[in-house]
Amino acid sequence: MSEQEFDIAILGGGPVGSALALLLARATPRPGRIVLLQSDSSSLYGHAPAADPRVLALNQGSRVMLDSIGGWPGEAAPIRTIHVSQRGRLGRTIIRNTDFGVPQLGCVVRYADLHASLAHAVAASGVRIMTGPAARIDSQDAHGVTLSQGDLRLRARIAVQADGSPAGPPRREYRQMALITTARSSQPRDGWAFERFTQEGPLAVLPHPEGGGLQSIVWCSAPEHAQALRALAPEAFSEALTQTFGTRLGSLTIEAPVAAFPLALNLRKQATDGRVVAIGNALQTLHPVAGQGLNLGLRDTATLAAALRQWLAEPGADPAGALLQFERQRRPDRTLTAGLTDFMSRGLATRCSVVEHAGGLALLALDLSPSLRAPLARHLLQGLRF
Ligand SMILES: Cc1cc2nc3c(=O)[nH]c(=O)nc-3n(C[C@H](O)[C@H](O)[C@H](O)COP(=O)(O)OP(=O)(O)OC[C@H]3O[C@@H](n4cnc5c(N)ncnc54)[C@H](O)[C@@H]3O)c2cc1C
Repeated sequence: MSEQEFDIAILGGGPVGSALALLLARATPRPGRIVLLQSDSSSLYGHAPAADPRVLALNQGSRVMLDSIGGWPGEAAPIRTIHVSQRGRLGRTIIRNTDFGVPQLGCVVRYADLHASLAHAVAASGVRIMTGPAARIDSQDAHGVTLSQGDLRLRARIAVQADGSPAGPPRREYRQMALITTARSSQPRDGWAFERFTQEGPLAVLPHPEGGGLQSIVWCSAPEHAQALRALAPEAFSEALTQTFGTRLGSLTIEAPVAAFPLALNLRKQATDGRVVAIGNALQTLHPVAGQGLNLGLRDTATLAAALRQWLAEPGADPAGALLQFERQRRPDRTLTAGLTDFMSRGLATRCSVVEHAGGLALLALDLSPSLRAPLARHLLQGLRF
């Protein structure tokens, strides 16, 4: 069996792996020495990328990055106002784009659209794309990594795991499911995103990329309740949704099947293992409460591409220094973001005043003001009452 040789092999052509492929293609004079290995079976959650029902709230930093690599999808709904509230408590927090002097706080895109636009850009980038059975890392030595995809064997100097698959058992099972669907509101509010904390988990009602009064729903609740909700007829589900969310958007009537995603926290201690490095969901899988997972994964890609830029000019050299730099640079952001979302998914729902802490989607806005990140984090963490 012959072996094909590459500088970098990326396992997984999800949004993170594709974004990395595009960034690396720009950083090397030999994009054909980078290979993107994409599995043709469905993802961890059981959906093919083109049929993945997720919608993603992305911050302004992610938007700028995706735009710059030609991966931003055509349809996106801007978020200009974020409304955070807590069921059973008075009061709310509102964050507006004008607070930051920016046109928008973030955007909502469909996972499937983002996947398609990134795949289109990768196809034109010169990067080799190999689609087939799930790829595998077989072994590594001091000079590189041996991989396989079905009968195909490959050798790469560095392998990047961007397959969305965490290593080992979850660090925390949230005992929550996220129910995803699309609803039409009878009194839509242009550019408003809502996050409502309930006893069982957060309920996000986001503007849908299609517009026209459509809302993307991400409803996190206890698994038994989620199963019961999923079994309801559409009319009964819509009624339960409107009752839990309240009447800020009038009534909510669902117009799509309800999909379920189990939620857990996974966080690898080390991003690198010799010449193998993990990014995106393969490195950390978060609760979706604050819409941070892909935003964080895209920051992994930007840092890894920057760390490898010099090495790509001389790929025969030892990449250990570049990979160590990546490991060190990513640790604070990964730890902080995983800690915040973990805390919010459990703590804010039940114990603390959301109004006081402005949690959840409000984190999207922090990207606009990095100086707020550390003080807010401290504030949130010091407010912990376990
Ligand atoms: C309900 C829900 C809501 C979310 N909302 C948000 C949000 O609002 N904002 C946000 O930023 N994030 C959000 N996220 C998180 C976000 O979806 C993930 O962080 C993001 O999809 C991670 O991208 P990825 O490319 O690392 O992994 P994935 O999206 O999982 O992509 C991995 C790809 O690799 C392929 N693959 C798997 N194994 C192999 C293999 N062995 N060989 C080759 N290919 C392989 C898979 O088929 C898949 O295409 C949400 C997540 C959930 C569950």
